[in-house]
Amino acid sequence: MYVRGVGPRLAEMLAAKGISTAEDLLYHLPFRYEDRQNPRSLDELKPGEMASVIAEVRGSTLLRTRRAPIFELTLGQGRLAMKCIWFNGTYLEGKFHAGQTLAVFGKVEPSRSTSNMKMINPQWELLPDASDDAETRLLEVGRITPVYESLGGARLASRWQRKVLFNLLESVRGAVPECLPAAIIERLGLPNREIALREAHFPPEGTPMTELQAWSTPAHHRLIFEELFFLELGLELKRRRMRERAGIAFETDEKAREAIREVLPFHPTAAQKRALAEIVSDMRQPNPMRRLLQGDVGSGKTIVALQAMLVAMENGYQAALMAPTEILATQHFLAARKLLERSSRKYRIVLLTGSLDEDRKRANRGLINRGEAQLVIGTHALIEEKVEFDRLGLIVVDEQHRFGVLQRFKLMKKPRPDGSEDAEPDMLVMTATPIPRTLALSLYGDLDLSVLDELPPGRTPIVTRRVPDERAGEVWDFVYKQVKLGRQAYIVYPVIEGSRNDQPELDFSHDETPAAAQPAKSSSRKTHAKGKTADLFPKLAPEANPNAKSGLKSAVAMYEKLRTGPLGGLRLGLLHGRLDAEEKEVIMRRFQRGELDVLVSTTVIEVGVDVPNASVMVIEHAERFGLAQLHQLRGRVGRGAAKSYCVLMTGGQVSERAEERLNAMVRTQDGFELAELDLAMRGPGEIFGTRQAGLPDFRIANLVRDRKLLEIAKQEAARFANATPENAEGAEAERARVWARLREGWQRKYGLVEAG
Ligand code: ADP
Ligand code: MG
Repeated sequence: MYVRGVGPRLAEMLAAKGISTAEDLLYHLPFRYEDRQNPRSLDELKPGEMASVIAEVRGSTLLRTRRAPIFELTLGQGRLAMKCIWFNGTYLEGKFHAGQTLAVFGKVEPSRSTSNMKMINPQWELLPDASDDAETRLLEVGRITPVYESLGGARLASRWQRKVLFNLLESVRGAVPECLPAAIIERLGLPNREIALREAHFPPEGTPMTELQAWSTPAHHRLIFEELFFLELGLELKRRRMRERAGIAFETDEKAREAIREVLPFHPTAAQKRALAEIVSDMRQPNPMRRLLQGDVGSGKTIVALQAMLVAMENGYQAALMAPTEILATQHFLAARKLLERSSRKYRIVLLTGSLDEDRKRANRGLINRGEAQLVIGTHALIEEKVEFDRLGLIVVDEQHRFGVLQRFKLMKKPRPDGSEDAEPDMLVMTATPIPRTLALSLYGDLDLSVLDELPPGRTPIVTRRVPDERAGEVWDFVYKQVKLGRQAYIVYPVIEGSRNDQPELDFSHDETPAAAQPAKSSSRKTHAKGKTADLFPKLAPEANPNAKSGLKSAVAMYEKLRTGPLGGLRLGLLHGRLDAEEKEVIMRRFQRGELDVLVSTTVIEVGVDVPNASVMVIEHAERFGLAQLHQLRGRVGRGAAKSYCVLMTGGQVSERAEERLNAMVRTQDGFELAELDLAMRGPGEIFGTRQAGLPDFRIANLVRDRKLLEIAKQEAARFANATPENAEGAEAERARVWARLREGWQRKYGLVEAG
C-alpha cells in the first residue's frame, strides 16, 4: 500500500526497523504523550511540577566546565525567560537558532540566580514555524501530541511520524477492517479497531494524561487485547494440534505400580502424588504428553520424574533425562542408580556426558541405539545431538530455571527398517522457576502444568541475614562453629579468579554491570549498616576486612585466604567452572559424602545440587546476583532437618535494585513471591529471554503490565477456538477471517516454531 510521505528510500529505512507494511506503521504507537492542549505560560510555572512550555528560542551556549559540558538554552515569551540545561549537551550545539519555536516538557525547577524557573534535561521538540502548513501546525500544538521513538535519524523523527501517521489514518478512514470477533468486542466494551488506532495516535481532547501515559485508555486496552488474543488463539491451536498427533498410550498396570513401590524411598507428599497422577494420566493418552512440572527448589521434582520414567520402562520403552550441567547429570545418574538398585528388575542405566572418554561414549550410544539401555541420563547437548534411540518413550528435561528447550528440542530419530514413523515420545519439562501460575498457563498455553506447591516434610525455614563485608570475621566464626556442630557450608563468589577482568561464572545480565552500579541511597545504607544481623551474631564486634576494597573477591583467592586464615583446620574444597568435569565430580562427591566441610564455589553449584547436611550458605557480593539466582543458591541449604542459614554479604556500593532484591530475600522464602517481584523488576523478556524461549516480542502488550488482559484474552481465545457449530458466536465468514488473520500473523509476528 502507498503511504503518503514514504518513498522507496524511507521505506527501506523503516523496513530495517521492522516496519514493512502500513499496518506495522499503524501499530507503531507513541511511547508517550505531551499535553500541549494548554501549554503553560512562563509566569504560571511552579517549581516541582511537570509542565509543557512553548516559547521562542533566544539564544544558546555550550559551557565547557571541568566535569561535563553543559548546553544552556534561553527561551522567551515576551519579557519572560526560562533557562533549559542539558548536561553532556555537546550534541545539541548548533541545533537551535534564535527565533525558532520550541516545545519543552520537563520538571520545573527554581533557578538560583534569577526569579525565573529552569528545566534540566527537558524533552524538547522544534515546532514548525509560520511558513509550515496549517495541517502540520495542527498536529503539533493545541492538542495532546504523540511522541514517537525515533526510527532513525532526523528524517524519521517524531514530527515526521506524526505527519505520516496522521495522513495514513486519514487515508484509511472508514476502511480499517475489524479483526476481532464482534461478540468479543461487545462483551468487553472495546472500541473498534479503527477508532482504537486513531485515538492511540491522536488522543481526543480531554483524554486523561495519566491514562495515556499508562497505556490504559480504552484505545490502548483494545490494541493490547487484540495482540494478546491472537497470541492465545495461536497457543490454543498449537495445543490442539499436539493432541491430534500420534503418541504412545502407556499402560499403568499392577506391574508398573509394583516397580515404583519397590524403589520409592519415602512417602511422597500430597503434591508429588497429585503431580504424578496428572503425568500418568497424560501418559496413558494416545497423544504425546507435553507437561511442565513446576516446583520450587527442593520440592522433590526428581523423584516424580523417576516414577514416570519407570512407567515408560515397564512398558518396554526407553526413558531419557536431560540435565543442564554435567554435575547435575551425574548427580541424577548416581541417585537414580542408587534407587534402582533396590528394584528386583534389572534396569540398565547409562550416563552420557562430555567428559566421558570417547570409547565409553561410543559404547553407551551403542547400548542406547540397540535398546539395551532403558534409562539414559545426560546433558542436553549430548542427548540432543548424538543419540539415536531405539524406542524412546519419555523425555524428561530438567531445565531448572531456564526455558525454551521445548521449542528448540529436536531428537534424532532412528530410521525404522520399514520406513514407518515412530510415535512421538512424551515429554516432561521440570522447572524451578516459579512463574506465577496465571502467566505460566497463558504463556505456555501449549503445555499442561503440574505444580509441586508443598515441600517434603521436615524442612525448617532458612534464616536469611544481610551482613556488610566489615563483619566478615563474624561470618567465618559462625561457619567455623557450624562445621564443628557437624554441618557443612557453601561459600559462593561471583567470579572464579582475579577481580576486574575475570569472566563471571554466570551472567550478570540482570540489570547492572559492575561499572554501572549506582551508589546506594542514604536511606538504604542505613538498613545496611544496622545490618539486621545482630541476632544472628550477637557477641562479636565489627572487624575490618582487608578485602572490603573495590575489587571483587574471587573463589580462588578466597579459598586460599580462608583455608590459611579464618577457616584454617577445616576441610575446604574449591569448585568452579574451569575445573574439568572429572575434577568437579570428585570435589562434589567428596562434599556430598561429608569429606569436605566447606565448599568454596562459584555459581556452578547453583542448579539442583543436593547435599542435605549442608546448612550454611554464604554468598559474597550478594548484590551482584539476580533474584532467581539468589533464591536458587539459598535452595541448596535447608534440605535436611538441621536449622539452616543464608548469609548475604555485601560490600561497597549497592544499587537501588540490588537493595530491593536483598531485602526481598531477607523478607521471604516463597519462590512465587520472589518470582513475582523479579518479574516486576525485570520484565518477562529478561527473565525468560524472548526469542530464544519462543516468547513473542510484543508490539504493544507488556506481560507484566497487562496480566489482567492476558487472562481475559486467554479465556476469550479458548471460547472462540473451542466453539462448536451450535454455540459459535458470529457468522461463519467472520470466524474464518479471524482464523485467517491468525495464520497470517502468527508466524511473521511471533516467529514461534512448531515443537518437534
Ligand atoms: P528439586 O525439586 O529441587 O529437584 P529434589 O528432587 O532434588 O528437589 O529433592 C530434594 C530433596 O528432597 C532430595 O534429597 C529428595 O530425596 C528429598 N525428597 C523428595 N521428596 C521427598 C519426600 N516426599 N519426602 C522426603 N524427602 C523427599
Ligand atoms: Mg532438581
